[in-house]
Amino acid sequence: MNRDINIKKTRLNCFRQSKVPGVFMLQMRVPGGMVDAKYLEMIEHISKTWGDGNFHFGTRQTFDICGIKYDSIPQVNEYIEDYICGVDAELCNVDMNKIAGEPREWDPKSGYPTIGARNITACIGNYHCICGNINTFELARKIENLIFPSHYHIKINIVGCPNDCNKAHLCDFGIIGCAKIEYHPERCVGCGLCAKKCEHGATRVLSLNPKTGKIDKDPCCCVGCAECVKACPTSAWTREPTDFYKVIIGGRTGRQTPRLGKMFLNWATEETVLSVLANWQKFSAWVMDYKPEYLHGGHLIDRAGYKKFKEIMLDGVTLNPECLVAEDVFWAETEYRSNYNVKPLETHHAAGPQKA
Ligand code: SF4
Ligand code: SF4
Ligand code: SF4
Repeated sequence: MNRDINIKKTRLNCFRQSKVPGVFMLQMRVPGGMVDAKYLEMIEHISKTWGDGNFHFGTRQTFDICGIKYDSIPQVNEYIEDYICGVDAELCNVDMNKIAGEPREWDPKSGYPTIGARNITACIGNYHCICGNINTFELARKIENLIFPSHYHIKINIVGCPNDCNKAHLCDFGIIGCAKIEYHPERCVGCGLCAKKCEHGATRVLSLNPKTGKIDKDPCCCVGCAECVKACPTSAWTREPTDFYKVIIGGRTGRQTPRLGKMFLNWATEETVLSVLANWQKFSAWVMDYKPEYLHGGHLIDRAGYKKFKEIMLDGVTLNPECLVAEDVFWAETEYRSNYNVKPLETHHAAGPQKA
């Protein structure tokens, strides 16, 4: 039977259209990719009662439940009230009665109010990973209430260290946890392990001084990965107690102009990052003249230009003294559409030993 379905409305409600008319997939937010395991029972219940019995881990770390019929959406919405209130309202302190900061009454039985700001993803960070410099999902929870609910589209990926397992360079805002590291020469036994580690796994900024038996550091381009801290057997390298972040902007995948993001801020503290992100709604509203449309955050930056983006995002922000801000940002995504780097096979240079 044919029937009218307002696809835009169901989409805003976080039910995504499938190839089968009238069948939808619910996407449930999991800020930072971490929630209490008790919610898995709810996922199972939704999936077995209204869905097709399966669920998919969304690429943005959402719980995706497929096979939900259009007529079941109101019941599913009613059922997920506890989830939305428990995860977004309580865990992340989200004011569900606002959209992009503007008052808007939310009926808790009506499901998600917007889909605009996408789920914030995060690697496991220092909750488990030996490389992690920061608690990634706690940061995600603090950011959630700055960007959600909102009709403005933004994708944020957080990682615990510059290894960037969660691809901070491929989203609108990538946040990379870094450490400022301190050297305690009195503890150093001159084994050189940190220099080797930095050379093989990072930026080659450390060297063992044969005269002093201590480590010299070129401070130019340490990325704050703390691999040297991990390598040192005597704790001669330690992380400063303050967490620092790099903020990468404007990365994306996609059919048209995929590109890696570029660094906007380096050595920003959490307070700085949160104050900057608090300006995202204002920036998006300005770019779109207060009329939200489906446009990725990176495209908003392109539309405004980096200089204007920087002006609005830094408005009223007190940067921590260590924080560096990119003077300008230059993109190279036109390479993709022009096939700039794709040479015909016959012009490729052969690798390995060549025949005489
Ligand atoms: S990005 Fe760093 S902290 Fe996160 S999982 Fe990868 S190695 Fe671990
Ligand atoms: S933090 Fe990373 S880049 Fe910096 S000195 Fe240590 S290993 Fe090298
Ligand atoms: S690993 Fe530690 S002890 Fe060894 S050279 Fe580096 S700082 Fe010194």
